[in-house]
Amino acid sequence: MNGKRTTVRDVRRRNRGVLLSKLYFDGPLSRQDLSRTSGLSTATVSNVTGELLDEGLVVEAGSVESDGGRPRVLLRVDPELGYVVGVDVGETRVQVELFDLAMRPVAKADAPIDPRHPEPDEVAGHVLAGLDAVVAQARIAAGDVLGVGVGVFGLVEQAGEAFVHAQTLGWDRVPLEGLLRRGTDLPLYLDNGAKTLGQAEMWFGAGRGARHAVIVLIGSGVGAAVVTDGTTYRGVTSSAGEWGHTTIRYDGRDCRCGARGCLEAYVGAEAILDRYRQTRRGRPPAQAEEEAALDALLAAADTSKVAARVLDETAGYLGAGIANLINLFNPERIVLGGWAGLALGTRMLPAILAAAERNALRQPFAQTSLVLCELGPDAVAFGAATLPVADLLTSGGLRRGAGARRTVRPA
Ligand SMILES: [Zn+2]
Repeated sequence: MNGKRTTVRDVRRRNRGVLLSKLYFDGPLSRQDLSRTSGLSTATVSNVTGELLDEGLVVEAGSVESDGGRPRVLLRVDPELGYVVGVDVGETRVQVELFDLAMRPVAKADAPIDPRHPEPDEVAGHVLAGLDAVVAQARIAAGDVLGVGVGVFGLVEQAGEAFVHAQTLGWDRVPLEGLLRRGTDLPLYLDNGAKTLGQAEMWFGAGRGARHAVIVLIGSGVGAAVVTDGTTYRGVTSSAGEWGHTTIRYDGRDCRCGARGCLEAYVGAEAILDRYRQTRRGRPPAQAEEEAALDALLAAADTSKVAARVLDETAGYLGAGIANLINLFNPERIVLGGWAGLALGTRMLPAILAAAERNALRQPFAQTSLVLCELGPDAVAFGAATLPVADLLTSGGLRRGAGARRTVRPA
């Protein structure tokens, strides 16, 4: 027989994963609910939930009356199983947040970094210091942390350990996981920030219930997470989704990546402000001022023809970029997020949608909707914290990190 054999162990892991995921996202649920919604037999559900209860991954959570029968016991994933940490390595700061397993925020630490030359050692130092700080604030043991997810700018290459490529910031295959490994034994999960934010929106925000979606992230830079059939599309080295560096205008404006005419060079916050400035002669705002400067530009659109024109063009470019996503991926939903994406979308969603309609094919355009993200502009750390949770769920709790408090029986 060709291909990989499916072993008893694989089946067991998959069944555990299915039931843990159901209980995590939809719990508390009874064994009957689990059997009905998972397609697994009542015997399998009974066996697997028995295992999960014995191991302490799942706990009882009251009971409900059933029609004429005995009350049905409800089960859920133990919210006290452990904590997870999410890290947002952004272009201007490192933010570290501790969550419980129900993803409620428990503690938070923040450190600014030099937006022009973020030094890898300095960034790793801030992450590790932040990790110590949130564990201390929460008064827990480091061993109570199941894992640390890190959402980072740039491309994250998964090659045994994770390397970061951020061409626009001078990071060339930086061994960030290795740098962090020097200071912690906790399981580490690194991914691109747009992808972690995408996962958060898919799990808990505007992407819920969709199988095919694109989560678009606009800040200073522009990124996207493409979700096809429920899974983030990655490509051969996990860099897929660099929508910001697709060409929107041949031989157009210079982009930070070195190419010309990229979408980011028109609709990234830095580029929007730059285009506005070129019409008025002014000093470029510092990165920290970008948010206020974009708000001021949006407010000026009512009274200034120049501001209104720059924003009209921005809606046009953004809509055209979204039309490209619609034609390429046939998504049922496009979620617009990031701090600048939210600011633009809140004010100009109809204009962006109209531009998308002008540029997209009619049939796929009619199948999609454009909505704003629901978790706010700061969800990268939150999204990163879902990485260790996703590992817990997909491994069926069989591959738990060094931090797991309860021992798991060997498979
Ligand atoms: Zn570019």
